[in-house]
Amino acid sequence: MRFARFALPLLVAACTPDPSPKAQAPAPPPAAAPAPAKEEKVALDKEELKKRLTPQQYEVCVFKGTEKPFQNKFWNHHDAGKYHCVVCDAVLFDSKTKFDSGTGWPSFYDVLTKGNVKAEVDRSHGMVRTEVTCGKCGSHLGHLFEDGPPPTGRRYCINSASLEFRGTEEKK
Ligand SMILES: [Zn+2]
Repeated sequence: MRFARFALPLLVAACTPDPSPKAQAPAPPPAAAPAPAKEEKVALDKEELKKRLTPQQYEVCVFKGTEKPFQNKFWNHHDAGKYHCVVCDAVLFDSKTKFDSGTGWPSFYDVLTKGNVKAEVDRSHGMVRTEVTCGKCGSHLGHLFEDGPPPTGRRYCINSASLEFRGTEEKK
């Protein structure tokens, strides 16, 4: 037998597409997004602020310090104009709502633009107070008390160091 019948089956890997329609894979559900940050805050760059602000302003705005009463820029300031955030320039208070509280700090019975001033509970120093911060940049401004004059009954007790004053033209 010289001839070995030798059939080599060629195994051809069939690569035919699967004719059965594939079930449409459902779109993956969107990943549960974390609660979106509503506030677009200007981040406080401490290094930059340290260069730009006076030590007093820096201490008050960044470390929630409190300046001395009757020894600050605006406690007895009566010009007409607007008070801005010294850090981000957001307009905060109007001189029309400034009143003499007798505390030695600039005091306002209302804010100029809602949202530009934020109030939240502050439990530091063994007291429960309402801290007032700039709604734009988070810079510390002062505290809010409910013993102010009408029509709001509020007293925003603000550090002069947190404020920048811009006078209106109609000066006497
Ligand atoms: Zn600000």
